[in-house]
Amino acid sequence: MKIALIAHDEKKDDMVNFTIAYSNILKQHELFATGTTGTRISEATGLSIARFKSGPLGGDQQIGAKIAENEMDLIIFFRDPLTAQPHEPDISALMRLSDVYQIPLVTNTGGAEVMIRALDAGFFDWRNIVKEKK
Ligand code: PGA
Repeated sequence: MKIALIAHDEKKDDMVNFTIAYSNILKQHELFATGTTGTRISEATGLSIARFKSGPLGGDQQIGAKIAENEMDLIIFFRDPLTAQPHEPDISALMRLSDVYQIPLVTNTGGAEVMIRALDAGFFDWRNIVKEKK
């Protein structure tokens, strides 16, 4: 599966800890991230991860484009609900496209833990069927 990982600045430590904890599952998948998040994760875990631009510079929009092309299967997005983000419109657009295309998206650690375990248990295999039909 293709998994996008994004974390706002105040949530980057949480993302690093999450990816360390679940690296054994994550390494079985194709990983993508916004710029700084990707650097932090690969430095901490050694996981292979393709990096888009930094979020405020268009990274969220690049991930949104992948969703629109049916090339992203899961979005793990640790949002900071207490800090205004300059690229709020891009964040809303990314979340909107996830809803348009029914791509699972979680915005906090609790949701991400459930998702990653569900992924590992094969609950997302329907995505392969959707992709085969295209
Ligand atoms: P970053 O982008 O990983 O480059 O910090 C994330 C964001 O703030 O949207």
